Amino acid sequence: MPAAHTPNIHFGSRTDVGCQRVRNEDSLIVSPPLYVVADGMGGHNAGDVASEVAVNTLAALAPTIPDVDLLGRAVESANHAVITEAQKAGFEGMGTTMTACVVQGDKIAIAHVGDSRAYLLHTGKLQQLTRDHSWVADMVEQGRLTPDEARVHPNRSVITRALGSDPTMQPDLYEITASEGDRLLLCSDGLTGMVDDGSIQAMLARIRDPQRCAAALVKEAIANGGSDNITVIVVDITGTNAKAERRERRRSRAWIILMLVALVGIIGGSIFAAYNWMQNSAYLAEKDGKVVIYRGIPDSFPGIETHWLVEETDLNVKDLQPGMQARISENYPVDSVDEAERLVEQYKLQAEEDAAAEEARTGISSSSSSTKSSAKGGSSSSAAKR
Ligand code: MN
Repeated sequence: MPAAHTPNIHFGSRTDVGCQRVRNEDSLIVSPPLYVVADGMGGHNAGDVASEVAVNTLAALAPTIPDVDLLGRAVESANHAVITEAQKAGFEGMGTTMTACVVQGDKIAIAHVGDSRAYLLHTGKLQQLTRDHSWVADMVEQGRLTPDEARVHPNRSVITRALGSDPTMQPDLYEITASEGDRLLLCSDGLTGMVDDGSIQAMLARIRDPQRCAAALVKEAIANGGSDNITVIVVDITGTNAKAERRERRRSRAWIILMLVALVGIIGGSIFAAYNWMQNSAYLAEKDGKVVIYRGIPDSFPGIETHWLVEETDLNVKDLQPGMQARISENYPVDSVDEAERLVEQYKLQAEEDAAAEEARTGISSSSSSTKSSAKGGSSSSAAKR
């Protein structure tokens, strides 16, 4: 599989049948954040069926976060799937190892069964993270074999725990916090049986590109005899980048909130400005022949009140000059209510002056109502009181 070109994920993998086996019974998943190695066993083609069923189940059920309990449950499900498949296909003794990791930033969750392994290269030193479920590992723990003796022991392939036989099987679970620059290695025993830890450590430390490193490890196992299938996954831990991503996510969240606040501000501000503008606007209109003052704007929108009656004056529209009458009948906008009131006073004065001039000219005092506005059309004004 090719190395990923995604900036913050660096991994590589390689699987090979080796030099002595007919088929490759190893299966793997390289699907960030999930990385899995499964080493199948059993006669005929049962081994590859077992490892494939196991990794397919895991691919479907593994968590996307490094939660060991969820990952462990997915491995238990994979175990049941292999058992079911073995019964269905009549493959007695079919089974598989499984070393499954979910990596997120510097957090690694591992669920492990069998003798495939997870290692961490930390500050140039190789640490085996998982404990083999194998007969030779037990012997080493009891001090009856040295690690070097175990590697070449005839019973080295005898494993004490696997997927595919015991329905109550439970994986070992590990929760690791790694550091930026650490390197995670997952491999089947085809690597560790052929290449000692010292050489693995040196190659992991020397070969920077994870894909080239995985390929080189497999090549080394083949060069040393390749007596088994070999599967290698190398994952670079980018803890700091993950932190940077989290920072970036937080920053973009803050931006979204800021933009929302700004948007609400703009909308709110616009509504306020419009309301304010309406409140400060005024116009003169005609109502029952009188000039009236409205606050707001004459247009109305469905469901929204845009004008409010302020004052019904006693100024007759017909007492105004014809041009002004026309403007008032079409709703005459003015800057403010104050301005409207001033205008009305002015029109009243004007109307009184017009009336006085008329009176002087005709000798007839014409005054209707308190405005003493001129009553155009002569005779009708004769009824006016003095
Ligand atoms: Mn193997």
